[in-house]
Parts: sequence; structure tokens; C-alpha cells
Amino acid sequence: SVKSDPILVADRVRRSFGGLTAVDVRRLEVQRGTITALIGPNGAGKSTLFNLLTGFDRVDQGDWTFQGSKINGKPGHKVARAGMVRTFQLTKALTRMSVLDNMLLGAQGQFGERMAGSFLRNVWGRQERANTVRALELLERFKLIDKREDMAGSLSGGQRKLLEMARALMTDPAMIMLDEPMAGVNPALVQSLLGHITSLRDEGKTVLFVEHDMDVIMGISDWIVVLAQGQVIAEGTPSDIRSNKQVIDAYLGA
Ligand code: ADP
Ligand code: MG
Repeated sequence: SVKSDPILVADRVRRSFGGLTAVDVRRLEVQRGTITALIGPNGAGKSTLFNLLTGFDRVDQGDWTFQGSKINGKPGHKVARAGMVRTFQLTKALTRMSVLDNMLLGAQGQFGERMAGSFLRNVWGRQERANTVRALELLERFKLIDKREDMAGSLSGGQRKLLEMARALMTDPAMIMLDEPMAGVNPALVQSLLGHITSLRDEGKTVLFVEHDMDVIMGISDWIVVLAQGQVIAEGTPSDIRSNKQVIDAYLGA
């Protein structure tokens, strides 16, 4: 069972795009030290919710606290410094940077193309040595150390996912949010990614992830939240969700 010790608590989070209500979550709690899966059909609002909570999209309404502190309204890099990060796909600009430089960008908790130029001009600043040490440790852990000088764009699909995860860990977050971490990854690397996710949880970090593969979800999640049309329609342990007929019929296609 999952004890009540929420690291993230969100209330009445809403985001509309024109006439479309993409997210309308009355209440969301993520328990500390768990792997929590956020599932639901395409267009359910999962990515939008991630963007909102981590300060990378502007919310229409809503309040949320992380480790007891209010963080709604803070920009992404401040949310990251507070200990909550999400992964970002490698953008075109980032594929033209080395694996190690990608990691050093992660140290800032911000990953946009806009930041890259100004950040790299400061790369030899005071923090650089400590950041480099941490980056190399993480690259070792994620088995990317031999690729550190390679362009990120030369990595395989699975290695990119490992880099995205490693980069998000540069700020040593208490909570990491992964949006479809297994998408486009070959089966051998899926196992490796799953191993990394469970080790993060076992080290005391909180993981919130979006995934479609039900075997993966049922296999590693402590708690599952089901989102549909922007709303939480069910939540529970994997066995709760597996036996929830409404969820299965309507959203899992089983
Ligand atoms: P999911 O990640 O669950 O597939 P999304 O959060 O990406 O869903 O999208 C939720 C809904 O919001 C979809 O209908 C999508 O088309 C819409 N949406 C997401 N982002 C935008 C945007 N920037 N502008 C307009 N509509 C958007
Ligand atoms: Mg999505």
C-alpha cells in the first residue's frame, strides 16, 4: 500500500486552448518515494499537465505545492531548483551539441534552445567543475560515458531516452517526471530504462511517468492515475486499476 505523504499536491488545475479544456484536474497527489503512472488516451491532457506543473506552460487556474512550498506561477528553472524536473526531448539544437554539453545544460534546469547560447558562454564559470563531475558520474551510470564527446544527434533512440533522463537528474531532483520514456526504444533498452526508473525510486526519489504499455505500467507502478478529457477519472494500485471495469472498457481497450 501507499502511505499518505504527498510530495506534490495540486488543486483545481485548469488549462484551456481556445474552446478546448485540455486539463481540468480537481485534485492530484503524488506520494513521496513512489513510482506513479499517469495514463489515459491520446489527447487526455497528460503532457499539458506535466508542462503546467513544471512551469513550462501558463496555467489558467490552480494551486500546487511541492514539498510543502507553493510553486504554481514559478518558471521552469525555479521549479527545477525546488526539486521537481521533467525530461525534455532532444530538440534540433541540442542534437548538434555533445552529450556532455547536453548534461551541463541540464544543470541549469532549463533546456530550451534559447538558453543554450547564453549558457555555453558561461560554461567555464565557478560551478563548471562540480557540474562536470556530476555529469560524468551520471553518464557512467547511464552507460553513456563513452559517448560524452559525440553529438547527441548520433545517439540511438534508446540512448537519447537515457540522456534525457540523465540530464534531468543533473539538479539532483527529489521528483522526476518522465513523458513516455520508452517511446521508440528497442526491447533491450526498455529493460534498462525500467531498471533506472526503479533504482531512482529505491533511492528515495519520486517518479511520475506517462506510459502506454500496460505491462510496463502494471509491472513497475506503485500507484496509477487515469486521466481522460483532462480529468482524473480513477486512481489506485495496479490491481485496483486492472480490475476497474470502467477504466478497462473505456480507456485501456482490453
Ligand atoms: P496527451 O499528452 O494526454 O496525449 P496533451 O496534453 O498533449 O495530451 O493534449 C491535450 C489536449 O490539448 C489535446 O486535445 C491537444 O490537442 C490540446 N493541446 C495541447 N497543447 C496545445 C497547444 N499548445 N495548443 C492547442 N491545443 C493544445
Ligand atoms: Mg503526451
